[in-house]
Amino acid sequence: MRTINLIVIHCSATRCDKDFPVEALEACHRARGFNGIGYHYYITKDGQLHLTRSEEVQGAHAKRYNKNSIGICYEGGLDEKGKPADTRTPAQKRTLLALLKSLRVDFPDAEILGHRDLPWVKKACPCFDVTEYQIL
Ligand SMILES: [Zn+2]
Repeated sequence: MRTINLIVIHCSATRCDKDFPVEALEACHRARGFNGIGYHYYITKDGQLHLTRSEEVQGAHAKRYNKNSIGICYEGGLDEKGKPADTRTPAQKRTLLALLKSLRVDFPDAEILGHRDLPWVKKACPCFDVTEYQIL
């Protein structure tokens, strides 16, 4: 297993009133030249957790930080007008919390950050403050 010292949380940057199922995400990432979905986990609006890449395989989600990180993405991140917003549904919040708790057990030393918290990242992603999870 590779060394994991970072867990990065993302949003799909899609509108909360539009569906962006895992198949659409995969098509989007393959079109960008990725070998499948770049994130390891995808959480759709219904709260379902999709295992989209093995943890053992390096992801493609955070430039310069992919080697030692795990990427998690939730469906949404834009409001009905297309503006960045925390659009997580209660089901998504529950699933994300449970996932992070379990990753904490496997990788106790890994830092939990939002994509925008990484240096030089000029994005709103994941459109909420992840510090609520850093006490886990
Ligand atoms: Zn991101």
